[in-house]
Amino acid sequence: MPMLKVDTPLSEISGIGPAFLKRLERLGIRTVRDLLFHFPFRYEDFSRVYTIAELEPGQHATIQGTIEDVKDRRSFRRRMTITEAQIADETGTIRAVWFNQPYLKNTIRPGRAANFSGKVSFSEGELYLSQPTHELLQSHETRHTARLVPIYPETRGLTSRGLRFLIQPILAHLEPLAEWIPKEILEAQNFPALTDALRNIHFPDALEDADAARKRFAFEDLFLLQLVNLEQKTSLAHERATPLQTDLEWLKRVLHALPFALTESQKRSLWEIAKDIAKPAPMNRLLQGDVGSGKTVIAALAALIAAKSGFQTAFMAPTEVLARQHFETLQKLFSKISAVAEPPHVGLLTGSGAKILYDASLEAEAKRNAFHEETRGGKIPIVVGTHALISGSGKKPPLIFPKLALVVVDEQHRFGVRQRAALLTNKNVTPHLLSMSATPIPRTVMLTIFGDLDISTITELPTGRKPIITKIVSAEKRAQAYAFIRGQIKMGRQAFVICPRIEPPENTKEIYDSRFTIYDKEFKILELKSVKEEYEKLSTKIFPDLRVAMLHGQMRPKEKETVMRAFSSGGGSSLGGQKHEIDILVCTSVIEVGVDIPNATVMMIEGSDRFGLAQLYQFRGRVGRSAHQSYCLLFTDSDSKTAQTRLKAIVEAKNGFELAEMDLKLRGPGQFLGTEQTGLPDLAMRGLQDTQLIKSSRDAAQAIFARDASLRTYPTLNKKMNEFRASVHFE
Ligand code: ADP
Ligand code: MG
Repeated sequence: MPMLKVDTPLSEISGIGPAFLKRLERLGIRTVRDLLFHFPFRYEDFSRVYTIAELEPGQHATIQGTIEDVKDRRSFRRRMTITEAQIADETGTIRAVWFNQPYLKNTIRPGRAANFSGKVSFSEGELYLSQPTHELLQSHETRHTARLVPIYPETRGLTSRGLRFLIQPILAHLEPLAEWIPKEILEAQNFPALTDALRNIHFPDALEDADAARKRFAFEDLFLLQLVNLEQKTSLAHERATPLQTDLEWLKRVLHALPFALTESQKRSLWEIAKDIAKPAPMNRLLQGDVGSGKTVIAALAALIAAKSGFQTAFMAPTEVLARQHFETLQKLFSKISAVAEPPHVGLLTGSGAKILYDASLEAEAKRNAFHEETRGGKIPIVVGTHALISGSGKKPPLIFPKLALVVVDEQHRFGVRQRAALLTNKNVTPHLLSMSATPIPRTVMLTIFGDLDISTITELPTGRKPIITKIVSAEKRAQAYAFIRGQIKMGRQAFVICPRIEPPENTKEIYDSRFTIYDKEFKILELKSVKEEYEKLSTKIFPDLRVAMLHGQMRPKEKETVMRAFSSGGGSSLGGQKHEIDILVCTSVIEVGVDIPNATVMMIEGSDRFGLAQLYQFRGRVGRSAHQSYCLLFTDSDSKTAQTRLKAIVEAKNGFELAEMDLKLRGPGQFLGTEQTGLPDLAMRGLQDTQLIKSSRDAAQAIFARDASLRTYPTLNKKMNEFRASVHFE
């Protein structure tokens, strides 16, 4: 093999078959770089070679021996092929067993010498090796046995063995990579250089080497992230925004007219926002608080302040359903204050249409073109919609806001400088940004990932809400739970049923636990409920007399919208009107963010141990939004201790932030902040658990930034930063 560059597409390397390339592609692995940055998640220590006589049950061990006999047999009951080999060394013989790998016969032939690494198991009075990895003894360095062997996250058709086979020769022929971490930092942190780190993370000689490499890679992203934060903060501070003054007497009258008093933390948050937007530099603030804590109301008041000064606000939600809901929240709120403040016109623009709310009683459908005109003419002070507002969608152009002063975004933590720039018609002024989030994020993570944002937190729920009764439901109580749901529906309430996946698994092989062996007593299939199956079952067998519907991400937006409308009462949650047309909604996590159905009182979650704590918390927040007592039923088949501990945490936690801290400890931050949300790779996410690493990355970034904020004297770092900004979607 000639020397390889990291950018070489894998398709140009001889010996990688098209089927394998396709499977790699599915993981987003196309180039040598992608492959080398697909890290193992653990290592098996097969570095010591045992004799057969030394083996003990339960061990993970490598032996070296001669293959004496190989045969296949079919197990009809389990519909699989079992391959058995007899292996001998000078101290004895042992059997090795594999299932569904009939092709093994082609390589494991009698008379050959090989290493075998795997678990020593015991059955019917004798020891055997259960599904060992093998490696014929040849001249090359061992990859699979007799060393620390990397184990990669398994994906269908892509085994650790296959990856090792591919990665080792590539590493051996890799052209050295340019080091981009400044030398002073590498030395101070005692990190291995890039090329060494890559070798050591895949094929370490000692676990310490792998650890050091892993630490370096986790540091990399945290360090870059801190630099981005510093940059963003500095560049925003230099920009100009429209100062929006609040008339305090007027605001007092408005608050007084509301049917409720703001909670203490709502007041504090509103005050922090009012102070920020009065400044001539753009606000960059995150308003966080549990679902239902009253964030939207605060954002609406900020928009009202802007409208009072004659400026526009763009109010953006991640989905059309949520945009509609925000529109309704604004409508309700402004209808209350019309006696003391003139309610501004509010526009709603979604893929399915446009509306303008002229005052609380006059809502009119608008033609898209007219809507654009009105916005461009500055006649709609508050425009609600999805991101299509600013980016346009398909052939539809973005809106033009001549007087834009404030942008509110919901559940999208970052809203980059470039996104804001897209909104500007007057290039000299940047809008203030208020980002809202109900995703509970622990402090350490907050300060790292969102280090460029100022934060307001709403810590309490409005008074008078009944806590949701949460129960963990074991398999044998299922029928009882269904009877309970039926009872709630008879009382006129509604229920959600959440499932971890959309389709039933097409192929049961996929869901075998990889550690499972045919000799294990219980043939356990990890059962993941799918929306389609559950929908079938509930609508035909369990609740044939009730109105059951399903909702999942593969449905078209129009279909989803129709279902949501039928599930809510007449399209507006608490607006009354006609009655709901669906009793039970079976859905995937699409329901997670937002969605306000006050009449729903049961949140039933299948396979609840499969979800992150924050996600479960969000699901639960979908109920308990009215005066009716609400319930959250967490179904689980798992009796594993961690699963139980996590579910108990949900039952006991007082608020989302407390849970976030727990999830961070139990499972790492990747579990509550989806990678899609941050765009951060897993390793960096895990790095967030390491406060020492966070601190050193911040110190390092500050030192570099202080020395040369332009990074001109650090050309390789500068180049890396450009790549990083593009890959982590900040903008
Ligand atoms: P969030 O956006 O945080 O999910 P919302 O602002 O949508 O919460 O508020 C949820 C519901 O609670 C709305 O119906 C709103 O009118 C109501 N609400 C907001 N603040 C208060 C409060 N301080 N007291 C009583 N009800 C409130
Ligand atoms: Mg909300």
